[in-house]
Amino acid sequence: MKALQYRTIGSRPELVEIDTPTPSASEILLRVTAAGACHSDEFIMGVSEEEYYFKPLPLTLGHEVAGVVEAVGDGVTGVEVGESVLVYGPWGCGRCYQCAQGNEMNCEKGMRAPGIFSDGGMAEFMIVDDARHLVPLGDLDSVTSVSLTDAGLTPYRAVKSALPKLTPGTTAVVIGAGGLGHVAIQILKALTQATVVALDLGDEQLEFARKVGADHTFKSEPAAVDSVKEITRGLGADVVFDFVGIQPTADLAAGMVATAGHVVVIGVASGAVPIGQRTVPLDVTGRAINWGSRAELIEVVELAKRGAIEIHVEKYSLDEAPQAYENLHAGKIRGRAVIVP
Ligand SMILES: [Zn+2]
Ligand SMILES: [Zn+2]
Repeated sequence: MKALQYRTIGSRPELVEIDTPTPSASEILLRVTAAGACHSDEFIMGVSEEEYYFKPLPLTLGHEVAGVVEAVGDGVTGVEVGESVLVYGPWGCGRCYQCAQGNEMNCEKGMRAPGIFSDGGMAEFMIVDDARHLVPLGDLDSVTSVSLTDAGLTPYRAVKSALPKLTPGTTAVVIGAGGLGHVAIQILKALTQATVVALDLGDEQLEFARKVGADHTFKSEPAAVDSVKEITRGLGADVVFDFVGIQPTADLAAGMVATAGHVVVIGVASGAVPIGQRTVPLDVTGRAINWGSRAELIEVVELAKRGAIEIHVEKYSLDEAPQAYENLHAGKIRGRAVIVP
């Protein structure tokens, strides 16, 4: 079968021909119908040999996956061949305290996510380790829904955790209106009556943010702190979601968060918001999250079924997948690039 693999440190992903895997007794073989290209793949391909801690290369990319059940192992029950499913990505052990709560991304034995710590779904077929990691898709289209598993789930967890702070009349700021941020804006509009502000670099990105529901948009630059204060009676934002995670955006978050506000860092990078007596207003809380729980994926799929969120996708074939990553790398993707094998 064809697969898109990251094969040598520092190189770009390559389309290769590999053996189609066979499921063991507990596994499921999916025929992949869609796989999303994520900025964290770029992060994986950007780290040096010394810092590389993911699956030893070669690694088949793709941690946002939808597919149709092609075959199941002898020990698998309750999953039908032909069923259309989404793959819950942050695979944990399933048995530790965090996993027992569905928070498999926090597994105490470490996460074994496909496309990161095991082979992923940018291929014609993919192995899923356990039936609990499949969520039925029902009538939803796999291409427009595949990114619910990450670009939907991650902002959903971020927003849900901040809901007590997002009462009517409050202001939420989304920094970075890309793959995850454009979904965050829609989730905020669906779940709250807060004013939603989006920050990004270019006019095109800001226009896209308004199109998906942002009430105000500003350039992501130091002056945005004053712009946000101007529309909040000088108080600042009640919640800031940083979908970029670099130091300049962390500084923006720290600079514009209101007293008793909340900062959620979602972007995978090395920025940090300094919580301290002299660095942010009093009573500010902060959180860094990655992905979400199994229950939250089911919730976000229900939101999509109700038409409350729509992920903007650009389609590519598996042969075009290397180009999708070039475009992602160059910041040319509006919403999410989805590979359709
Ligand atoms: Zn991702
Ligand atoms: Zn676990």
